[in-house]
Amino acid sequence: MRIAIGGIEHESSNFALLETPFEAFFGHSRSCQPKELLTRTGEINTIIDGFIKGLRLEGVEIVPLGWFHAPSGRQPTRGTHEAVKESLLAPLRNSMPVDGVLLSLHGAYSAETVDDADGDILQSVRAVVGRACPVIAVHDLHCNIGKTMVENATALIVEDTYPHVDMSERGVEAANMMIQTIRGEVRPTLGWCPIPLFWSAEKMITSEEPMSLAIEQLLELEKHPDVLTASIGVGYQWADVNCAGAATLVVTDGDSAAAQKKAEDLAQWIWIRRDCWQRELLSAGQALIEGEKIAKYPIILADQADNSGGGAPSDSTEILRLFIEQNLKNAAVLYIADPETADKATEAGKGQIVEVEVGGKSHATQGPPVSMRAEVLAVSDGRVVCDGPMFAGLEVDHGKSVLLKQGGIYVIVISLAHQPVDLAFPRSLGLDCGSMQYICVKSTGHFRSGFGPIAGSIFNVDAAGIFTQDFSKIPFTRLGRDIYPMNPKTCFLI
Ligand SMILES: [Zn+2]
Repeated sequence: MRIAIGGIEHESSNFALLETPFEAFFGHSRSCQPKELLTRTGEINTIIDGFIKGLRLEGVEIVPLGWFHAPSGRQPTRGTHEAVKESLLAPLRNSMPVDGVLLSLHGAYSAETVDDADGDILQSVRAVVGRACPVIAVHDLHCNIGKTMVENATALIVEDTYPHVDMSERGVEAANMMIQTIRGEVRPTLGWCPIPLFWSAEKMITSEEPMSLAIEQLLELEKHPDVLTASIGVGYQWADVNCAGAATLVVTDGDSAAAQKKAEDLAQWIWIRRDCWQRELLSAGQALIEGEKIAKYPIILADQADNSGGGAPSDSTEILRLFIEQNLKNAAVLYIADPETADKATEAGKGQIVEVEVGGKSHATQGPPVSMRAEVLAVSDGRVVCDGPMFAGLEVDHGKSVLLKQGGIYVIVISLAHQPVDLAFPRSLGLDCGSMQYICVKSTGHFRSGFGPIAGSIFNVDAAGIFTQDFSKIPFTRLGRDIYPMNPKTCFLI
């Protein structure tokens, strides 16, 4: 049995500032050429490693196609998309015949003039392998499922967790389903129901209600003997594409009517609770007041409008300014992407005082830079091996980085935007997050995987930033349909 594995992963936004050139898919620490894929242990928490782990357990021959991951950012051009796709297709053509194809596709990948780029990849893979060959893809929870994806996949599986801690587990699940399919033990049949709904990120946290109740629905569905797997895609909202929004997927063993009915029933369950998946906006100042009432420290403010994990620049300054104005003690801001400041402070060196203009350099919406006269507490090349539940063992490169201190405020300034997901990087710079009273993280939900255990209280806040969660402020032009909560009276579940 020969099973091809590969991936193209990009969460693409029309509103992000960070360009996504061809090279972005090849320089990332997660990206691998085909040969390198075979040297992986399969022990890291990624979908690709899950494929490897699942296939090796069954002694299957792995045909590596390559894994091309680019950081969330602006939609690539059509030409870049075609070239990256060809990087995956060429090894596939050269390896034919294969018995099946497993793909790690983000699910919210779009390119200029290609709204459903994941679908385009699946369609192109299908054209190489033919209708009879099973093709199974695993997606991020924040996927925008499009028609072309559904039409060209044998099965689609979505992560069940946010923060995403089940990537490897879903990869293993897909590998097992693939092996069973090739052996003729199951016949995956896919049902899909798009939901005209934009989900607030804070209401996607799968360990907490209400999202935990939605996951329970999935687990109930999967108890049914004919249901192979069931998924909810909560959507990625900063993509101005016609497939943006939530969706359900149900894979049954050979019963297409049941798959479709169950996907629609699950979508209906979500739709009638559409208010539950929304939240009231909360300013950072208000969150600090609420946090002081609870008095459990550290109070963590999630600056979700500036989450680089979703494609934001990670240099907005509203919360840093607020911390300084309030003269907070033991307050940390993690992380501001500002290569100019990182350079200047690195040049000055550890122990020196620098005068720097921090952040606010990418876009007017991110707020103006903050003038700081700060001590350089630590300098680093920005490389660290993660040790939290999301990415334990994975090396991340933040570029030239520094820890600055002004009064009671600590700021980690990095050169390559990354959202904070665990404590390893601050610790490497000598910052003990557990001893902080206030922490601002440029993250929406993933920080909870590493920071959750030390958090006293957590507030997702709506500070100024280009990835606002006030969806009515996002200048969409291509959605092509009414969506809740922006058009509450005119959107309907089909
Ligand atoms: Zn995600």
